[in-house]
Amino acid sequence: MRILLVLVISLVLGSCSSQVKESKIEQQRNSSGATSTVKKRVKPEFNGQYYFVQGEDGPVIVVNKKYPLSADFAPGEDPIAGVAFEDLIKDMESKGFQVSHDYSGYRSYGQQKTLYEAYVARDGQEAADRYSARPGYSEHQTGLTFDVKDVSGQLLEEKEASQWLLDHAAEYGFVVRYPKGKEEVTGYMPESWHLRYIGREAQQISSKGLTLEEYYGFEGGDYADERIFEKEK
Ligand SMILES: [Zn+2]
Repeated sequence: MRILLVLVISLVLGSCSSQVKESKIEQQRNSSGATSTVKKRVKPEFNGQYYFVQGEDGPVIVVNKKYPLSADFAPGEDPIAGVAFEDLIKDMESKGFQVSHDYSGYRSYGQQKTLYEAYVARDGQEAADRYSARPGYSEHQTGLTFDVKDVSGQLLEEKEASQWLLDHAAEYGFVVRYPKGKEEVTGYMPESWHLRYIGREAQQISSKGLTLEEYYGFEGGDYADERIFEKEK
């Protein structure tokens, strides 16, 4: 029966071997009773500067430890995301949260390189890889990502404010990109302050409680290349 199903799927999909392989994987997952909320595996496309998947309203840039950005991708802060972030901060302030208008947003490849190397020098690479991206792997390089800070200038960790972000950031088009309990999927420790702009579709992603990896179905987790990052001298 199972062989027949695979055969039928193969015929439907035609000769594209990678698609057939994906269908088989999906079928195995279903038969083993694994979570059904995860979509089938999608392979993001690369346009020379970044990987992307098709979202409901257009291409969605994909960045994680499997999908890097090119070093010369330097878009600066996205103006739409910037306005949305400012609106979100104003709303939080009006609710009494101690948040700052100062934030950590766009970072170039070079800035990320400096930052990451400083963390490696301080904490060692293994620790640094859990909370900081290697150059070319930071979502901040897209100009779509913002770290919320509190009024003392620290990254926002306060419990109620963090919960507010989980509940309401999507109304402004953002997702909390590295939630608790998803380190295996996202490749990063929880970061209650790190917001990624998606747009309208953020509401669906957030209401399902899924990471971008799970919602769009692309691969996440750790770096594919396990070798120690070598500093360019
Ligand atoms: Zn961040």
